[in-house]
Amino acid sequence: LVSRLRPFTSTIFAEMTALATRTGAVNLGQGFPDTDGPASMLAAAQRAIAEGVNQYPPGPGRPELRQAIAEHRTRYGTEYDPDSQVLVTVGATEAIAAALLALVEPGDEVLLVEPYYDSYAASVAMAGATRRVVSLVEDGDRLALDVEALRAAVTPRTKALLLNSPHNPTGTVFNRQEMEAVARLCQEHDLIAITDEVYEHLVFDGKEHISLASLPGMAERTLAISSSGKTFNATGWKVGWVCGPADLVAAVRAAKQFLTFVGSAPFQPAVAHALRTELAWVDQLRDDLQRKRDRLAEGLSDAGFGVRATEGTYFVCADVRPLGFTDGAELCRQLPERIGVAGVPVQVFTDSPQEWSHLVRFAFCKRDEVIDEAIARLRKLG
Ligand code: PMP
Ligand code: GLN
Repeated sequence: LVSRLRPFTSTIFAEMTALATRTGAVNLGQGFPDTDGPASMLAAAQRAIAEGVNQYPPGPGRPELRQAIAEHRTRYGTEYDPDSQVLVTVGATEAIAAALLALVEPGDEVLLVEPYYDSYAASVAMAGATRRVVSLVEDGDRLALDVEALRAAVTPRTKALLLNSPHNPTGTVFNRQEMEAVARLCQEHDLIAITDEVYEHLVFDGKEHISLASLPGMAERTLAISSSGKTFNATGWKVGWVCGPADLVAAVRAAKQFLTFVGSAPFQPAVAHALRTELAWVDQLRDDLQRKRDRLAEGLSDAGFGVRATEGTYFVCADVRPLGFTDGAELCRQLPERIGVAGVPVQVFTDSPQEWSHLVRFAFCKRDEVIDEAIARLRKLG
């Protein structure tokens, strides 16, 4: 394996899911739902297969899906031309990788906020670039963006900022003030913004998802990335997309065509159908997830964990120190065997593991009885 990929041999999700499967543990590690998406979307995919939508789709994605994506994005006040400003990808993961491969030169720097989703560091490395990492900071029980630290991390080689909100793994949703500060920073330093918005619909307590591209001066320098996986409980379909100015999207398409060329033919019309007709289903999903968040957060708190605020996504971060543990990674390695629960240590999403070793991420996109069983088992730790 080449040296630039040596730090990325196996993902934490694969490792923890394998451990959970081997031990029969309740898997609150890898974030995937245990129920299906809207029935009409599933039927649309089956129909597409039966009707022969089984060969290569058009390079940029099927037109009805690009149209539906552009219409969906108007909810943020942003307008995209479906032909030149929308590109369908194999999940958000490919969109992120293709964006970096297309826009960042070897030796350029990319700003990341830590903890960061694991594919970011690997994709920056594959592009031959360097990551500059700035930590979220505690503000009460919320993990907040430190915009001054972000500003201090910019150098003449900084080309892009990759920002994820709602944020995995912390559950923070960056507020308007934070987003406006990021927008100013990008404009002052002429940075390209790449925004990972895969949890855009999973925002709780009436809070608002802000798409960075919607702020003044940002549409022309932002690639907005999302996917159907989280919105429609279909993480295995891998239908994602990227929207942005035509020149940047054309660059991403150049990289994307030699990664996968195209993908997911019969799922594309199904996702188009869901974007057009199933957003009420998604509101219901969000409300259910908010209740599940409360269920898991209360259970973790009763079991003795310190619980951080979750404003969005389907993850809760729990502080293991009140239970007398200091190393979340070590604890996550023991938990499946010891009490039959799997979680993910937050430190694996960072460049400063010591500072994050007290947090473990648990996913709550699970049936209530699964969450309850996990809580009952976690109580044995106290
Ligand atoms: N970004 C974040 C923050 C994620 O949590 C995930 C994973 N689910 C992805 C990107 C990947 O999305 P996809 O499955 O659409 O590639
Ligand atoms: N995004 C999911 C998570 O954060 C899992 C993705 C994966 O398995 N690569 O848990």
